[in-house]
Amino acid sequence: MELLKQRILQEGIVVSDQVLKLDALLNHQVDPELTVEMGREFARRFADTGVTRVVTVESSGIAVAFATALEMKVPLVFARRKKTLLADPDALCERVPSFTKGIVTDIMLSRQYISPDDKVLFIDDIIANGDAARGLIKIIERSGAELVGLGVVVEKCFQAGARTIREQGVRLESLVKIMSLTGGEIIFGD
Ligand code: 5GP
Repeated sequence: MELLKQRILQEGIVVSDQVLKLDALLNHQVDPELTVEMGREFARRFADTGVTRVVTVESSGIAVAFATALEMKVPLVFARRKKTLLADPDALCERVPSFTKGIVTDIMLSRQYISPDDKVLFIDDIIANGDAARGLIKIIERSGAELVGLGVVVEKCFQAGARTIREQGVRLESLVKIMSLTGGEIIFGD
């Protein structure tokens, strides 16, 4: 997605060889027009899959997942990062390490909002090692729903997440691929 590449070049900040800060357009501030375009693009790519529900993980995936769900005219459900010790017998939970926070968090999704009849499109912001995505994929599998694909805004190709998830047989589409951040330079892939 050419527009997104331009915005990343203008507003992204390379923090290290591994991390690209995208607070200006994805992880803190949200540009509604750009986000709507991202949602349109995901909806176009997954138009043939019969999606009944879009899912994401709070918080950075919510805006683009919302735009996708709006375009596909289906509900959006976001998995919550669990902050309470109260047991919810209806919840599907997974423990995932957080790439940027360096901690482990529990994510949960209530069985009330996902069913075995669903065809689920999972939308997320950035894929690095893939831990967050693998956690939500396990939850979707345990719900009995069918995962039709995973759409990520930014795929960091120099980390293993996207490759291993594709090897699992999941259809993963990214709007922008980043091959390298070495030396402070953002190198895009095709
Ligand atoms: P993973 O579980 O794939 O290692 O990391 C995924 C999550 O970590 C993403 O949803 C994103 O919020 C955060 N993350 C990973 N790499 C980056 C990065 O380079 N920049 C930013 N801003 N967030 C990242």
